[in-house]
Amino acid sequence: MAAHYVTCVYCGERFNRDKEPTTQVSARRYAHKKCAENHEANKSQEEKDLEALEKYIMQLFDEPYVNARVRKQLKEYKEQYHFTYSGILKTLIYWYEIKGNSTEKANGGIGIIPYVYNDALQYYYALYLAKLANESKDIEKYKPKEKVIEILPPKVQPKKVRLLFEDKE
Ligand SMILES: [Zn+2]
Repeated sequence: MAAHYVTCVYCGERFNRDKEPTTQVSARRYAHKKCAENHEANKSQEEKDLEALEKYIMQLFDEPYVNARVRKQLKEYKEQYHFTYSGILKTLIYWYEIKGNSTEKANGGIGIIPYVYNDALQYYYALYLAKLANESKDIEKYKPKEKVIEILPPKVQPKKVRLLFEDKE
């Protein structure tokens, strides 16, 4: 029954998907369940960030895939502007959810990113600082009670200086 034989997209081995634990990767692609799990575990943070970003963009534009225009923009922002995928995602959340802008003017693209990336970063940085300030209230309780003894730099003794001058005379 050749139809049951598939090639694992990760290890390249052909196997019977009715007999071995199988994961369907996409419409016509399969993998051993174990290989798919290993692949998931070994993904880099950047790959995970890109996946989260792509998922968000597809939801944002209500599209089943990331369109060519957005792919080109992502490439450009990463290579030329050195933006990160997580930074771009945060910027989109900032612009559309926090600022409440509509996607009507977006034309299915993310051209707004370079214009608001820094604003978004500042917004998140302010949030981060506010969070730290809140957390420090708790930290106060755990601070040691002893005072730190200040160690002063050794003072120049005026007497010695005077002697030096006197020697020269
Ligand atoms: Zn495999």
